[in-house]
Amino acid sequence: MKYCPQCGNKTEPIIPEGDNRVRDVCDSCDLIHYQNPRIIAGCIPAWDDKVLLCKRAIHPRKGFWTLPAGFMELGETTEQAALRETLEEAEAVVQAQGLYAVFNLPHINQVYMMYRSALLKPEFSSGIESLEVRLFAEHEIPWDGLAFETMRLSLEYYFQDMKAGAFKFRSADIEKPLFR
Ligand SMILES: [Zn+2]
Repeated sequence: MKYCPQCGNKTEPIIPEGDNRVRDVCDSCDLIHYQNPRIIAGCIPAWDDKVLLCKRAIHPRKGFWTLPAGFMELGETTEQAALRETLEEAEAVVQAQGLYAVFNLPHINQVYMMYRSALLKPEFSSGIESLEVRLFAEHEIPWDGLAFETMRLSLEYYFQDMKAGAFKFRSADIEKPLFR
């Protein structure tokens, strides 16, 4: 950040007193501009042995398939964010079934929180951010057409656990994505 969001004057990258990291600090009003990772919340919406995927209508990764997920908004919980994104992207109403996977992506300062969820009815359609929305059984998943590494891992873990007959909490640190 070059200019202060509070007064518009120039900022300098310095270590503030009592801190141990470089922050952008305003020359004029001394505002410290803290930057922190962003949380992306999403769902793995299930219907029988199938999961709901959305083909992205927006960049990045336009035309690739993703589970419904997006940046958390102020004032909501991670579960509310996951359900809202599912409604927005897939126009699907789901019931959350618990936090299933957490992914850290420190190279892009993101944390993904993925919830298992159940479609209440097999009713869905393309939201404004999706070109197409459909249910996929495991053998139908477009593995080479997935938008993000986090989605590939979520689906791999999910179908492994489905076959094992028990879902267990998963987490992974993704340092270098295979694609993106
Ligand atoms: Zn300022």
